[in-house]
Amino acid sequence: MKILVINCGSSSLKYQLINMEDENVLAKGLVERIGIEGSILTHKVNGEKYITEQPMEDHKIAIKLVLNALVDKDYGVIKDMSEISAVGHRVVHGGEKYANSVLVDEDVVKAIKDCAKLAPLHNVPNMIGINACKELMPDTPMVATFDTAFHQTLPNYAYTYAVPYDLYEKYGVRKYGFHGTSHKFVSIEAAKMMGKDIRSLKIITCHLGNGASVCAIDGGKSIDTSMGFTPLAGLCMGTRCGDIDPAVIPFLVKSVGMSIDEVDTLMNKKSGVLGVSGVSSDFRDVLAEEAKGNKRAELALNVYTYRVKSVIGSYIAALNGVDCIVFTAGSGENSEPLRRRICAGLSNLGIVLDKERNNVMGKPAQISSDDSKVKVFAIPTNEELMIARDTKEIVEGR
Ligand code: ADP
Repeated sequence: MKILVINCGSSSLKYQLINMEDENVLAKGLVERIGIEGSILTHKVNGEKYITEQPMEDHKIAIKLVLNALVDKDYGVIKDMSEISAVGHRVVHGGEKYANSVLVDEDVVKAIKDCAKLAPLHNVPNMIGINACKELMPDTPMVATFDTAFHQTLPNYAYTYAVPYDLYEKYGVRKYGFHGTSHKFVSIEAAKMMGKDIRSLKIITCHLGNGASVCAIDGGKSIDTSMGFTPLAGLCMGTRCGDIDPAVIPFLVKSVGMSIDEVDTLMNKKSGVLGVSGVSSDFRDVLAEEAKGNKRAELALNVYTYRVKSVIGSYIAALNGVDCIVFTAGSGENSEPLRRRICAGLSNLGIVLDKERNNVMGKPAQISSDDSKVKVFAIPTNEELMIARDTKEIVEGR
């Protein structure tokens, strides 16, 4: 069975065609600048890149070009589109309706549209991708996998904000959490690496990319996570502020004279490690500046790592202990110094890294020392594979 995974953004689209017999990626690629000048498709097969530059007015045209690339007689990987058994779509927000991936039907389409109120920047392009695929492949089943779904197991006291309850009832104001597909994937992989049933484990997963979140997982179920109503909450991130005193917002509006849109942009795009360091949102740049003696770069990284450490500590309390901690995504998978700083001073909680093992980049490995009571792993995330696995299961179970 071959499954096409689509992750559709407002002007970009990522895809992978996965052979589910061996979970091998047959081809993958990226379309950028859809609907604007300079549209470009980069299609990759066995490490070779094939570039198509031509105007792509909308997502339907972009997906048509992706399908053409997949069946191309020179660099294609399948003979015919009928070889694609199903399409798995990443959808950011499933609201409270979906705790699992689902087969896309009219009700699901309506629910995704309803949830667009909560995540307009994401759900709208996700829906455009689903519609474009349905038009081009009307007989191929489509599955939607939601970033929020994995966190639908949070207890109500963890997801309820301490604001008047009717804001939740009328407008859905609550913690939803994101990166669910990634937290789920790496927690399953960690359980496999420990050779244990995930139902017996308490796991804390740290997804540290440009966006970042931590998740507390008890017996395979998410019981708390650091992002909230939106992906702005929780940790300090590349450009996002994460948790701040909410009273800063009216202060900026009333006393500093900023508009609410300016505050929104400031918190999402100009804050985090970029905002504190004044250097960059890329952790590699900030680490390099710090090494040159830049004190603001050092402060930004201290703010960042301290915040992750604090959340890990609070989740050890929420879980009443922890068996394993997982680092994933760009910085989590690759950064020896960030992992070292986050785990420093946690030996009293049974968390001790092995200096040598912690040098690992981009491959699954145990990075804790043999005498560490808590196992610590670096595990590359693979959201596309998780979506493909869910899609396969749903399509086979129809
Ligand atoms: P996204 O959240 O955009 O999907 P990724 O998971 O790809 O992001 O992570 C991107 C981030 O990972 C970038 O901010 C980059 O700084 C960080 N990163 C990648 N490699 C390293 C590294 N070797 N050391 C520290 N940070 C890294």
